[in-house]
Amino acid sequence: TPTWRRRSRGAQLGGGGGSGGAMATMRNALPRLLVRLASFRAVSTSSIGTFPKQVKIVEVGPRDGLQNEKHIVPTPVKIKLIDMLSEAGLPVVEVTSFVSPKWVPQMADHTEVLKGIQKFPGINYPVLTPNLKGKIPPAKVAEVAKKLYSMGCYEISLGDTIGVGTPGIMKDMLSAVMHEVPVAALAVHCHDTYGQALANTLMALQMGVSVVDSSVAGLGGCPYAQGASGNLATEDLVYMLTGLGIHTGVNLQKLLEAGDFICQVLNRKSSSKVAQASCKL
Ligand SMILES: [Zn+2]
Repeated sequence: TPTWRRRSRGAQLGGGGGSGGAMATMRNALPRLLVRLASFRAVSTSSIGTFPKQVKIVEVGPRDGLQNEKHIVPTPVKIKLIDMLSEAGLPVVEVTSFVSPKWVPQMADHTEVLKGIQKFPGINYPVLTPNLKGKIPPAKVAEVAKKLYSMGCYEISLGDTIGVGTPGIMKDMLSAVMHEVPVAALAVHCHDTYGQALANTLMALQMGVSVVDSSVAGLGGCPYAQGASGNLATEDLVYMLTGLGIHTGVNLQKLLEAGDFICQVLNRKSSSKVAQASCKL
């Protein structure tokens, strides 16, 4: 059953402020939402359009990725990872989550992480505020998206967080939602559990979506979705978009270095196919 979570995607940390890196200031208090729609089915005859010229990648690795790690990742490691992702040119890096340490111990250092990261001008560092979880009947997703949009959510991320969707489902789901919400306010968040994340994302791009969530090295899953693993790897997304001539502003080499760094710390192989292919043995 789909659930939805509120994501505040507007918190931008003051870049050149004189406060010496105090807490995030909410430049845009409007929330962003992640709607899980794995079992959504709808029928539509909407045709497929052309690709956007530019795609905004929302890097979710430091939050969605690391919050699933059993072992607590040291705060300096998180800070270094976020700084490397900023250096790689990602326009949005989801840095942490203001959730109770009782629920997600991995995010207990949210304040230290926010204070410790470099604030690159022009980069958004949103934090997740997952305080609005609730069940939504699948057939109501489009209606709910409409309601959320009218409530002032400036970006609604449609998430297949258990990764079971296929491009046909993505197409039908988006067609239904796009009847209610402008496509410019939509993002997609695909997991690669069944190897469908890139294909689903490509379908969304063809339908006009230009904001895509992904995670460096494919880190993480959603702790709320049992058995779900593997976000779409940012490296693979950047490789595909570059190949399509779609601008992202991301430096793939620097991104690969950030992925290498965190995989070494976590002592694991990257889930990114591009990282595996580029691996210097
Ligand atoms: Zn995810």
